[in-house]
Amino acid sequence: MSIKVEHITKLYGEQKALDDVSFEIKTGEIVGFLGPNGAGKSTMMKIICCYIPQTEGKVTVCGFDINENPLEVKKHIGYLPEHNPLYLDMYIKEYLHFVGGIFHLDNLNDRVEEMIKMVGLTKEQHKKIGQLSKGYRQRVGLAQALIHNPEVLILDEPTTGLDPNQLEEIRNLIKEIGKEKTVMLSTHIMQEVEAICDRTIIINQGKIVADNTTENLQSTVENKIVIRIEFEQKASADEILSNTSANDVKIISDTQFLVEANNEQIRNELFQLAVKNNLTILTIQKEHQKLEDVFKELTK
Ligand code: ADP
Repeated sequence: MSIKVEHITKLYGEQKALDDVSFEIKTGEIVGFLGPNGAGKSTMMKIICCYIPQTEGKVTVCGFDINENPLEVKKHIGYLPEHNPLYLDMYIKEYLHFVGGIFHLDNLNDRVEEMIKMVGLTKEQHKKIGQLSKGYRQRVGLAQALIHNPEVLILDEPTTGLDPNQLEEIRNLIKEIGKEKTVMLSTHIMQEVEAICDRTIIINQGKIVADNTTENLQSTVENKIVIRIEFEQKASADEILSNTSANDVKIISDTQFLVEANNEQIRNELFQLAVKNNLTILTIQKEHQKLEDVFKELTK
């Protein structure tokens, strides 16, 4: 097990940022930590990386307790904070030498060269960090997180503020790195976990509200059918609910409804209901469901 979080609670004064959070991340997994802004993602990551103390609970990283063995934990973790704190006046190589020096790496020159190659900074390597675009600065951030060859990588919103091309490049890079490391990445973007992660933990208001493989979360959506139906005459949501197998009916107007059900049979039932009640159907159409809807539903 790479990361084990047990009953973590964090209070900032009176405010509870994390409320009895527990989860485990196995070696080699790429896990998305997904939640709206303010959900507690950064707080959880900072605790795992020994940057701030928890109020209650226990965390181990590669078997080392964050309170008893913080130095060992830091050796095993690479961390890219949300606002990548880089020294803009330093040259890329100078900065990576500086970070590598903190870890007392023996083969520092070779390691810096290796990192520059790994994160795709070869062409830019002679520049100052301040001269780089946001996408390339994130690459420098990834290089500093990886320089001591940690087993676990913690990435806090690694693609925020990138343009679509940079976004794809950084996602591909994270996927590549994830073949050899355990990765936990936070995001508030559903497509990010769809693109990168094997498993998704959804957090809302400091509590875990879902923890499943990304594939299983997707199938929850795929098993749900939503039909948009419009009648010529006024109709009643209660009538639809009590005469069909619908799980839920959302009212758009007197004549329009969104009907949620678990199988395709619902269309037939809606036709029969219309016939029975002398209603004319103007439109009936299946709504496209996205994984984003699961996220919205769990975090609203
Ligand atoms: P996320 O990363 O999911 O956006 P955070 O972990 O940054 O969420 O924040 C969780 C909650 O804790 C928020 O309500 C935030 O305002 C609060 N919070 C975060 N850091 C501090 C702090 N240093 N002092 C007080 N409150 C904080």
